[in-house]
Amino acid sequence: MLKFWNSLTRTREPFYTIVPGEVRIYSCGPTVYQRAHIGNFRAYVVWDILKRTLKANGYKVIHCMNITDVGHLVSDGDSGEDKMIKTSRLTGKSAWDVAKEFEKIFIDDARRLNIELPEGKLLCRATDHIYEQIKLVQILIDKGYAYKISDGIYFDTSKYPDYGKLSGQALEEKQEGARVEENLEKKNPTDFALWKFSYPYGRSFDPACDDVSLKRQMEWESPWGLGFPGWHVECSAMSRKYLGQPFDIHTGGIDHIPVHHENEIAQSVCAYGLPQANFWLHVNFLTVDGQKMSKSLKNNYDLDECQEHGIEPLDVRYFFLGAHYRSKENFTWQSAEGAHNALTKLREIAREWDTPTEVDADWNAKFMAELEDDMNTPAALGIMWDMIKSDLESDRKAATLLSWDKILGLDLDEYIAKQIDIPENVKAIAERRWQARNRQDWAEADQLRFELEDLGWLMEDRGASYKLKLKK
Ligand SMILES: [Zn+2]
Repeated sequence: MLKFWNSLTRTREPFYTIVPGEVRIYSCGPTVYQRAHIGNFRAYVVWDILKRTLKANGYKVIHCMNITDVGHLVSDGDSGEDKMIKTSRLTGKSAWDVAKEFEKIFIDDARRLNIELPEGKLLCRATDHIYEQIKLVQILIDKGYAYKISDGIYFDTSKYPDYGKLSGQALEEKQEGARVEENLEKKNPTDFALWKFSYPYGRSFDPACDDVSLKRQMEWESPWGLGFPGWHVECSAMSRKYLGQPFDIHTGGIDHIPVHHENEIAQSVCAYGLPQANFWLHVNFLTVDGQKMSKSLKNNYDLDECQEHGIEPLDVRYFFLGAHYRSKENFTWQSAEGAHNALTKLREIAREWDTPTEVDADWNAKFMAELEDDMNTPAALGIMWDMIKSDLESDRKAATLLSWDKILGLDLDEYIAKQIDIPENVKAIAERRWQARNRQDWAEADQLRFELEDLGWLMEDRGASYKLKLKK
C-alpha cells in the first residue's frame, strides 16, 4: 500500500486519490533566470520517481509544473528586483529572451537526467496565465481578503485563521519572525503581494521620460493599474486551471514551506473555499561539501560542470537515489564518483546476463514495498544489489532489473540483452538435440550442437531444461 509523509498533517498517511485510478500532481517549477544547478534538480528527479512509482501502481498521472518567468523577486519576498530583470540588466538581453534561453536549458538538462517533464500546456509559464492570475486576485479583493497600497495589492494574512498551519507556526510567531520589511504600509508583516505595480499607484510609465530603462520590461494592464503578478499567485491560479481544486499531491522544496506554500494555500482556500491539495510532499536540500549551494561559494554545479569531472547526468540521478528525499544529501566529488562507479559496475554485471525472461515476484514485492513506503529509494537500491548478488538465474535477474528500471530511469535496457526471437528452424534443431541428449546419443547431440553453432546459436544445458543464446 502506498504511503507518503504529508507535510500538512505531519504524518505518514495511506495514499488516496480524489478520482479513483488517477493522480493529479502539481510541482513548483524553476525560475528561469539562470541555469538550474544539481541541487534544484534533486527535487525534479524525486518527483520523477514519484510519478513512475505511481504509474507502476497502476495510476494514470496528470502532472502540472510551472515555469516562473516573471514576478519572483530576488528577496523571495515582496522587495527587490525581479530575478528575470536582474539577469536582463546584467547580460543586456531582454527579460523575455532570458526566460526563453533558460527554459530551454532546463528542459534539455531534465531530459539528460531522464526526467519525464509534463507535456504541452501542463508545463505552464506564469506569463501565459496573466488573465487567470488577475481573476484570482479580483476574487480575493471581492471577498475582502486583499487590500491596495501604493506599490500593489496585498493579501491580508490576518483574515485567514489557518495561515501558518503548514509550517506549524502560529500567526503571531510568524509575524515576529518575518523579515523587517521596509514596506510600512502593509497591515501585517506576513502580508504578501498579489499584484505589484510597475509604478506607484499603478501609474503608467511617463512617455515624456527620457530614461526608457525605467520602463518595466514585463508588465500588464489590470483593473488596479499596470503591473505584474506576485510570485505565489501563479501556482494557485495554474494548479486550479489544470488540476482542479482540491487536487491530490502538491510538491516542492522544504524552503517553499514557510512562505511560498503558506501563501499558495491562503490564496486558494480563501478564493474558493476549498483545500488546494490533499498531500504536500517536500524534498530536503542538497548540500555541497557540507555547505549550502550558492553562487558566491561557486559550488552551485550544473550538469556540464559534473561532466567535466567525469560525472555523467545518469550518475547524478543514481546519486540522488542514494538518499531519502526527506533527508539532506551531501554532494562531494568523491561521493559522486562513488555513484559513477556503482552505476558502471551495475552496467557491467547486467551486460553478462542472459536475455530477460520473467520478473521474479518475490524480489519485485520487496523492491516495490520500499518505494511504496514514502519513496525509500536508498532501501530500494539496497534490495536491487541484494537481488543482483543472489543466486537467481541471470535471465530472471535481467527481467526483474529491467522492470525496476522503469522507475529508476537509469537506461539499463541499453546494457541488458534484448529479448531475441529464436527462428523456428533453430528451435526445431535444439529440440532434436535435447531428445538425443536425453537418450544419451552423444554423437547425434554433438552433431546437432555444431549445426546450431553454424547458424550462430549456442545451446546451454541447464539440468532439466536448456537455453538458447546468440553467439557473441
Ligand atoms: Zn509554487
